[in-house]
Amino acid sequence: MKEPLKSKHALQEIYDGATFREIGHQLIDLLADHIESVQSHQKPVLNFRSPEEELAYWEQELTSTTGMADFYKNIIAHSIAVHHPNYIGHQIAVPALISSLSGLVVDLLNNGTGVYEMGMASNAMEKIVTDLVSKKIGYDHNASGFLTSGGTLANLTALLAARKAKATTAVWEQGHAEKLALLVSEEAHYCIDRAARILGLGSEGIIKVPVNASFQMRTEVLDKYLNKAKQEGLHVIAIIGCASSTATGSYDNLEEIAVFAQENDLWFHIDGAHGGSVVFSEKYKHLATGIAAADSVVIDFHKMLLTPSLNTALVFKQGEDSYRTFEQKAQYLWDSQQSREWYNSGKRTFECTKLMMSLKVYAIIKMHGEAIFEQNIDRLYGLAREFATMISERSGFELLLHPEANIVNFRYINLPETTINEVNTQIREELISRGNFYIVQTRIGEKRYLRVTIMNPLTQKSDLEALLDEIENSIEKKHIISN
Ligand SMILES: *Cc1c(COP(=O)(O)O)cnc(C)c1O
Repeated sequence: MKEPLKSKHALQEIYDGATFREIGHQLIDLLADHIESVQSHQKPVLNFRSPEEELAYWEQELTSTTGMADFYKNIIAHSIAVHHPNYIGHQIAVPALISSLSGLVVDLLNNGTGVYEMGMASNAMEKIVTDLVSKKIGYDHNASGFLTSGGTLANLTALLAARKAKATTAVWEQGHAEKLALLVSEEAHYCIDRAARILGLGSEGIIKVPVNASFQMRTEVLDKYLNKAKQEGLHVIAIIGCASSTATGSYDNLEEIAVFAQENDLWFHIDGAHGGSVVFSEKYKHLATGIAAADSVVIDFHKMLLTPSLNTALVFKQGEDSYRTFEQKAQYLWDSQQSREWYNSGKRTFECTKLMMSLKVYAIIKMHGEAIFEQNIDRLYGLAREFATMISERSGFELLLHPEANIVNFRYINLPETTINEVNTQIREELISRGNFYIVQTRIGEKRYLRVTIMNPLTQKSDLEALLDEIENSIEKKHIISN
């Protein structure tokens, strides 16, 4: 760390082009080396250290004399490598390299994007990118949307629009006068629950609909749940479909939900943060049949669509709805809140200053073509199906269900019944500490499952065989196999 005010030129130095060039070239080389070495399995997915060790390391690093190149090397060494083919854990994209490079441009140009002058290119690209999403969904020319920072914020924004459209009173101006509620699958992402509470719906206002054996919303009980809510004095304003659910990657029956929403004058929102991206795939878009009937849809580019976090499309069937959500006066930003200007993106997003996130998607399409999204989905969904078959063919393993998406839950069960949960937890911990694979876990009822999300298009069948081998090896070492 430099002493403050060491040089009177300190402020000039932070903008020195020659230094930028020098460090920048070193950095690109470092990152390229990193990607090549993890892709060829020469390095582990992660070198796990405890939070205490990690904190101590970075406390000393701050005052060390390490040069910037070594500093970046250390950051890489202390971070999980999502470009590693054995990164099959949480649902985040393995970013296309051109998208990451665009990220550097985003951070350097730092256009605020909320108003047109502060992001001419990024606002125009944002329209192109979100219009493409609308088209893929099957919306007509009335549709319109924008990008925002993450599925969590996008879902909240969509539900604000739902409240605006369906509440009997003007909540935005007058606060709550009626008890509002929404219907959602019990398997929905936790951010829906949070959004509902932020909207002031409270526990009572989040009606969780049970799921069937395939973890899909049981649409045949919707009438019963809606009537019960009405009897309790609740005004149900919206129903949310999962495409797909987080734990198991299951797609709700969107067609049936659409009919129910229409019949009961509900806002139909789809949380397609992860699996909504199948609209890009001819082969898998049938999983989301009915999506075009939704009033609003969220799709994360930073899950299945090769883009660094955060980068989320929120699109509305009636573009007009997107402008009404936040209608309020902000005189210093624009003359009239009432006019509908796609190019002033702050009118429709929660965010004021916003990343130039559209560049990261646009660059992928420009360099690789929009078909790259389809190829990625087809590869990841296809490989998950193969992995599921692999698991069901190995003795000792139990597959939770044949996957619809690229999320596979399984566990090792050739064990005394009472130890299954504990041993599966240990298996994961050992995998993480060895660092050859990164997988996660989930709990379904009382049972703990190992959970794999295949996010990396460079993951091979042989990597997945190796994972199962490694699990078998660690079981053998434990000498606890039943019989
Ligand atoms: C990831 C995810 C979210 C949350 O989105 P973020 O972009 O992480 O904020 C919401 N719903 C589903 C189904 C998801 O998979």
